[in-house]
Amino acid sequence: MVESKNILRIWAALGVLALAPGIAAAPRERGPRVESHRIVIELLPAVHGLRASDEMTLSGKTNELYFYLNKSFSVQSVHVNGREVGFRFDTAPDLSSKTLRADHTAAEFRRAGRLRVMAGPRRARTVRVTYTGELREEPAVSQFSREYIADQTAGIISETGSFLAPDSFWYPRGDEEMSRFSVETLGPAGYESVSDGGRRLHEIRDGKLAVRWENPHPADGLYLQAAPYVVSEGESGGIKVYTYFFPGGDELAALYMEKSKQYLAFYSDLLGPYPYEKFAVVENFFETGYGMPSWTLLGRTVVRLPFIPDTSLPHEICHNWWGNGVFVDYALGNWCEGLTALCADYLLQKRRAPGGDADYRRQVLRDYASYVRGNNDIPLAAFRERDNPASRAVGYGKSLMVFHDLERRVGEKAFFSGLRLLAGQWKFRRASWLDVLAVFEKLGGPQPAAFYRQWVARSGAPLLRLEGARLEEEAGRTALNFALRQEGAPYELSVPLTIVTPGGTLERTVPLATARGEFRIVLDQRPLRLEIDPQNHLFRRLFPEEIPPSIAKVLGAERPLIVWQADSAAAERFRSAAEQLDKNRTALVRSAVPGDSAERRDRAFVLVGGGIFPGEWTSLLQPVWKRIPLAPGPAEDPALCTVTTLVHPDNPDLAVLVLNAGARANLEAVVRKLPHYGKYSYLAFIGETNIAKGIWDVTASPLIVSFATMKYEEGTDIRKKE
Ligand SMILES: [Zn+2]
Repeated sequence: MVESKNILRIWAALGVLALAPGIAAAPRERGPRVESHRIVIELLPAVHGLRASDEMTLSGKTNELYFYLNKSFSVQSVHVNGREVGFRFDTAPDLSSKTLRADHTAAEFRRAGRLRVMAGPRRARTVRVTYTGELREEPAVSQFSREYIADQTAGIISETGSFLAPDSFWYPRGDEEMSRFSVETLGPAGYESVSDGGRRLHEIRDGKLAVRWENPHPADGLYLQAAPYVVSEGESGGIKVYTYFFPGGDELAALYMEKSKQYLAFYSDLLGPYPYEKFAVVENFFETGYGMPSWTLLGRTVVRLPFIPDTSLPHEICHNWWGNGVFVDYALGNWCEGLTALCADYLLQKRRAPGGDADYRRQVLRDYASYVRGNNDIPLAAFRERDNPASRAVGYGKSLMVFHDLERRVGEKAFFSGLRLLAGQWKFRRASWLDVLAVFEKLGGPQPAAFYRQWVARSGAPLLRLEGARLEEEAGRTALNFALRQEGAPYELSVPLTIVTPGGTLERTVPLATARGEFRIVLDQRPLRLEIDPQNHLFRRLFPEEIPPSIAKVLGAERPLIVWQADSAAAERFRSAAEQLDKNRTALVRSAVPGDSAERRDRAFVLVGGGIFPGEWTSLLQPVWKRIPLAPGPAEDPALCTVTTLVHPDNPDLAVLVLNAGARANLEAVVRKLPHYGKYSYLAFIGETNIAKGIWDVTASPLIVSFATMKYEEGTDIRKKE
């Protein structure tokens, strides 16, 4: 367990004290640490109410006996060591660094009141609090998507369903980081509850349903969910598997049951034994994608998306190792999202398709380059959870690349051995980035403090430049000379490169730990090309040339130019599609491309048309045009609508999108669907159905050099950039 003063020592050692907010504050009041909770709660959905008691056992030295509990609740009684005592419930408590732990914020405690118990703190071993209350924080409008996530509610009890999160302070919390929990719920018949651990009791008592969940292992908080669910039960390798779906969800339940069994087996094999006795998939009545110890809570819409059983589900199952098995010590940043993304989303894509891993890394780097700028960048040490595309690009993307770097340094086999060690040694404890890195140090990994300083404490990304690539003849062989330069304080990198020769492709790795490094590689054959990091193994900032145009790039642009084709029988359809595209009313909508390039140079633009394009469009786009690969049949279909993005002919930082609609194309549906295909460079639809999608290959990059094959003079610089 890392306490504040130890954190201070570690941070001082790392020279990252600037990251520690409020570290110089006066010593904090030390509250009781709750070792275990035994909660009994009656849920009264019809009136949004609860009646509860929590029997807590305490541990450690305490100088003040207080607990945080939802400030709207009424406390009925408090017993210490079995005897009733007095108390004071302060509903507007001091939430400063004097009372809160350094890894907590006043915002997280905004729903909390402070219950001060009038008893000698030193002798208190058990404290029992009895209370009643109401929770009816309606879920806010859903913002859940790949890019955005928001906490919709911390607590609600209703006939539709109940969701109780630790941040609602539905049970008393002390000064502990981890506790053991058991919760017994009482509710209307059929109102099924789910929480951490194993189900110990499930019976009808006086017409009400009583259910008890017990988790023998410590956790960093307790969620409770209940609703009129249909429950199904199964088993996988000794692990009990449940599904909780609303009536009518039988087919979904069967699918999630099968997939859960499959991924529990997969991860037990990969990462070591599953830490809990059950796993449950629970449908939520509002949109979430949460993973709790031994269960996952997926929103009604999310759970029905066809790709979720093989994407979000394995991700949430994997969190039972990272985040809910080994818990996160947030004081040095949240490492668990990057590692879970690596073991789930990334690894599964790698197994699904050859090259899937490189594609995934490329997309991570493109997201980082697109969303993260100097003003919204944060170091991984400051990441807690994603709340926008930039924090996602860092907390998931950069973090994944940092673990990938670790894997490259120790090798794949040692990396997964390290993960199994981490899962075993730190099970049910809070581990920091440094604790994680220390496990790998023993397997030949990098020195943790240096690695941490470079990738976790520091924001930003390396920017690599390739310079002075040239060939020299040397005793019948060819020497390839080049330099790599990085800007800012140098990172310690192991740079992969590919040398293409007439006889095949060579893979090499060169070390770079200084601002500039010069390299000389002697080859038997004269190389055709040198490519630096073509498989995107390094976390680095991409050049604009390495990011192909995408639909998101055009749709996300400020003040775009939208041009519709006026000289067509379908002009009216094109005009209304242009208006549909301009939903923010910030675009410049025209029926002809401005002739003066100055008017369009600083604007992304969209062309909407069909059939034969006007000559001005053709001449403008010719230099950048790319053809979508389509079979002859669909290519001739009058219901075809293609979407093509291109590099802006006047400005390589911007993009152009061309909507080309056949006479019977469903232009309205295509425009409506565009935002769902943001990462793609091109699309094709027949009617409403997508029949092709893809991302253009990047062939030109400042990190690729081709060597001319004809003119060759010894010692002269004959590189030619593509
Ligand atoms: Zn996650």
